[in-house]
Amino acid sequence: MQLVEVEKKEFKNYLQFIDEETAEEFARLIDKLEGKKIAMISATSFGGGVAEKMRSLVPLMQDLGVDVDWWVVFGHEEFYRVTKTFHNRLQGQKGVLTPAEKEIYLKYNHMNASYMKEWLYDIIVIHDPQPAALIAYREERPSEKWLWRCHLDTSTANEEYWNFLYKYTGQYDAVIFTMQDYAPADSFKSVAFIPPSIDPLSMKNIPLEIEEAREIISRFGVDPQRPLLSQVSRFDPWKDPLGVIDVYKIVKKELPSIQLALVGSMASDDPEGWDYLYRTLRRAGEDYDIKVITNFNGISDLEVNAFQTVSDLVLQKSLREGFGLTVAESLWKGTPVLGGNVGGIKLQIEHGVTGYLVDTVEECAQKALKLLRNPVLLAEMKKAGREKVRQEFLVTRNILDYLRLFSRF
Ligand code: UDP
Repeated sequence: MQLVEVEKKEFKNYLQFIDEETAEEFARLIDKLEGKKIAMISATSFGGGVAEKMRSLVPLMQDLGVDVDWWVVFGHEEFYRVTKTFHNRLQGQKGVLTPAEKEIYLKYNHMNASYMKEWLYDIIVIHDPQPAALIAYREERPSEKWLWRCHLDTSTANEEYWNFLYKYTGQYDAVIFTMQDYAPADSFKSVAFIPPSIDPLSMKNIPLEIEEAREIISRFGVDPQRPLLSQVSRFDPWKDPLGVIDVYKIVKKELPSIQLALVGSMASDDPEGWDYLYRTLRRAGEDYDIKVITNFNGISDLEVNAFQTVSDLVLQKSLREGFGLTVAESLWKGTPVLGGNVGGIKLQIEHGVTGYLVDTVEECAQKALKLLRNPVLLAEMKKAGREKVRQEFLVTRNILDYLRLFSRF
């Protein structure tokens, strides 16, 4: 396992997002946690929503005075292939758990647990399924509390995989899901619901001058004078990039000037990403108004910010989605979102108010055309989206939820 070094952040800069009463609650909770050591453990420090959230949560908690470290587990490709299968199956994909998968999964959890022998943490928060079985190999330290934070949409989990994992997750002192639909009726000792959040002061979300943002996207061959649809996502079947291209093609017939940007980072724990990127490129074919761009050709936080800022509409046409940070990120920039009618996207998109929830390619295309032709409605949605995120999905609220939970242990 490896300790992740995070860039420092100062909580005082975030006071603008909370009221006085909340600031007092923060102070009380920090006092209560004095002397407690907390470890967060996840699978990767780069790519995807979990790493994104940790990069803000961890340094902000540290600045508040919480003694928290972030560790990532060690693994080879065989481990990430298996855990990606777990991820897919827990989000409802059909399939049978094989003895080899179990063996590889447990082998790496066992190996990583050896790093924990000398640990002296009071609260250990495990993120997602990859390191969930660490609990089985821990040294017995009765004062240590273990929490499992599941970021996935497990509402239709494949039973066999869920049951296998439950042998481990069932041992945790508490589990955390994004929303109630995701918590099966299994008897966990304690269940909390905490929706994720975005960092309004990160490079990805700070306000950009529109001219600067236009200049940035034009470096990728996008014409900032023409309408633009974007989806910012890993190349993953659940994110449905192929469906997004199909939506664009329908819109293109009626609005020939439309462009599409598919912006995706290749996460280090997602070996499936490359296969899906190639499938996406094949579907895009020779249409040069479709830009498929990744972190390998210059996409990082500032560029994501620029695409989310400039796009007329952002799509997040997921077929399953634990939360979908990209939705909150776009709404925060005043860009309405057309999102798959699934999972955590439903928490963020108020249908007809901050965007639309869509079930099919055809519906998504019709809603895109409706909005692109209706600037007044678009402007109303811009305001509503930003306000929704301000109230519910900023990192300050997320930290408060975690501190409240930690203070119970
Ligand atoms: N992301 C990024 N660059 C990309 C594509 C995605 O930084 O090219 C970020 C995106 O902005 C978001 C995160 O990766 O912060 C994805 O989180 P989300 O919850 O949407 O999906 P996940 O990847 O966790 O399934």
